[in-house]
Amino acid sequence: MSDHHNPFEAMQARLKVAAELYGLEDALFKVFMAPSRSMIVSLPVMMDDGHWEVFQGYRVQHNVARGPAKGGIRYDKNVTLDEVKALSAWMTWKCAVVDVPFGGGKGGIICDPTKMSQGELERLTRRYIAEIMDIIGPDRDVPAPDMGTNAQTMAWVLDTYSMHVRSTSNAVVTGKPLGIGGSLGRNEATGRGVLIVAREAMQRLGKHLAGATVAVQGFGNVGSQSARLLHEAGARVIAVSDVSGAIKNDRGLDIHALMKHVAETKGVAGFKGGEAMEPAELLTLPVDVLVPGAMENQITEDNAAKIKAKVIVEGANGPTTPEADPILLDNGVLVVPDILANAGGVTVSYFEWVQNRQGFYWREREVNERLVEYMVHAFQQVFATTDKYKTNPRIGAYILALDKVSQAMHYRGFYA
Ligand code: GLU
Repeated sequence: MSDHHNPFEAMQARLKVAAELYGLEDALFKVFMAPSRSMIVSLPVMMDDGHWEVFQGYRVQHNVARGPAKGGIRYDKNVTLDEVKALSAWMTWKCAVVDVPFGGGKGGIICDPTKMSQGELERLTRRYIAEIMDIIGPDRDVPAPDMGTNAQTMAWVLDTYSMHVRSTSNAVVTGKPLGIGGSLGRNEATGRGVLIVAREAMQRLGKHLAGATVAVQGFGNVGSQSARLLHEAGARVIAVSDVSGAIKNDRGLDIHALMKHVAETKGVAGFKGGEAMEPAELLTLPVDVLVPGAMENQITEDNAAKIKAKVIVEGANGPTTPEADPILLDNGVLVVPDILANAGGVTVSYFEWVQNRQGFYWREREVNERLVEYMVHAFQQVFATTDKYKTNPRIGAYILALDKVSQAMHYRGFYA
């Protein structure tokens, strides 16, 4: 039975529509419908109290025609293989949309990082990297942060891989701390990409971002940096939510003060500069820009018709289900799809990888300027493709990606 909230099936549903419209040949369609490699590993870890836990981990490479696989590692108690497969395919399309020379990969471990100590997380990360050692590497597959992981996790990835290959190999992973090969601007890159495409989308509607109202779902790396940069660009962020709850202030939330509050209390709930609100209501507020910046399956057939935002910028991966797409389209909501909207992160990951391989580090201004070039160009290409195929921006983005990945497949041919 098909499960309409299965993220991999959600990816396949869009791929199918795009492939038909584009006229993709059957052989390539079949190849893209399944990841090229999925690895499942068991990870024994000694917990702080001396007992052993065995965690399950995954690394999936969806396609490597355009370059090494690229994509984050997710630590979450609800991780599934199908979720990691979907996320790896979205990385293939995302890297093609922004035209960075990578394929798509993704990793995940079923665990609850909020309940683990730093020592436990370090041992888990090191064992995971030791297990997937043979399939990663600067020219094979380059991990990065995702939900539940951060720059510290990436430092352990770097160190474990480097110990095994007996030399420091910092291009094996991106999103590292500064000083061990990290790039300026990487931490905020996904949020900065959200800002750039939000501005382009508003311009398309003949409106300005300055003064526009915004609601942001999620206050992790993506949500908080998006909110901060939108706020600094003069937009009025009136509502924000995370797992602790949701808060609202029609005059605009002070995002810097909110970030301080979250650093201290670990959640947006209880912030003095706003009133508490029902988290589910955030998505249906009458705002100009809605940023789902948390996780999959948030905008569904149940709430899509109630959405009043003019523009949705998908900071998260897969926040909208295939059933919700036509509802939003009918209601005239301009959706900037995930594989474009949140591609700022992997774009600066590419810059980080390039800097590591050059051994020459760029100034923050250079990183940010190049990010604008990549994102604006990708935005224009997605909308040109959308117009050419008379479709919606999500399918336009998939077609743009399919065109690039299938060209690479044609040049390389099938090795049989
Ligand atoms: N996890 C991020 C994403 O979903 C970043 C991936 C990367 O930088 O490789 O796009």
